[in-house]
Amino acid sequence: MTTESAARDRMAMHGRSLYDRGLCPGTSGNLSVKLDDGLLVTPTNCCLGRLDPACISKLDWDGRLISGEPPSKEGFLHLTMYRERQADRGVVHLHSTAAVAVSCLADVDPADVLPPLTAYYLMRVGTLPLVPYFKPGDRALADAVGLLASKHHAVLLANHGPVLSGRDLETAVSAMEELEETARLYFLLQGFRLRLLNPAQVDEIRRLHPS
Ligand code: ZN
Repeated sequence: MTTESAARDRMAMHGRSLYDRGLCPGTSGNLSVKLDDGLLVTPTNCCLGRLDPACISKLDWDGRLISGEPPSKEGFLHLTMYRERQADRGVVHLHSTAAVAVSCLADVDPADVLPPLTAYYLMRVGTLPLVPYFKPGDRALADAVGLLASKHHAVLLANHGPVLSGRDLETAVSAMEELEETARLYFLLQGFRLRLLNPAQVDEIRRLHPS
């Protein structure tokens, strides 16, 4: 069982690790962990590389602050993911460069933005639908994410970045890293003839690893 203090320490550790690798520049990105009595979310305007575990925001299921600093303004994205995905206990949202770059491309399939380049991407991320653009803080964004989240643990917000949930924070972080690296590969491969996984190979992975 995860204690609250262990969850706070893990959030700080993952925040530092993501920051050190340039995946959450400035004060971008937010992490959360679901507890039995609420939700831990990283505070607003905080740098994930310098998180104080004691200051992490604790919210109730309606998003009200129970303790700690005011939560990220994007906390509602996390609440939406947990509402739609009851079994998941960790959510990550980043403005990581390659994934944000993909979110700005015009000619992608909005039902599944990245092609099936590798089996590990399909296993850890699965399909990645695009959520239409909304201005920062618009609660209509939560509704749009909610429409997709029951079927997808990973979504890409147009001209913004990815949101991804997992059975725990570690799983969500490692899937997010796979997503970012796959977005990088996608750009590295531009201009080359590609050999993608074929539909039978994709189906085989999806049957074994439903997202
Ligand atoms: Zn964001």
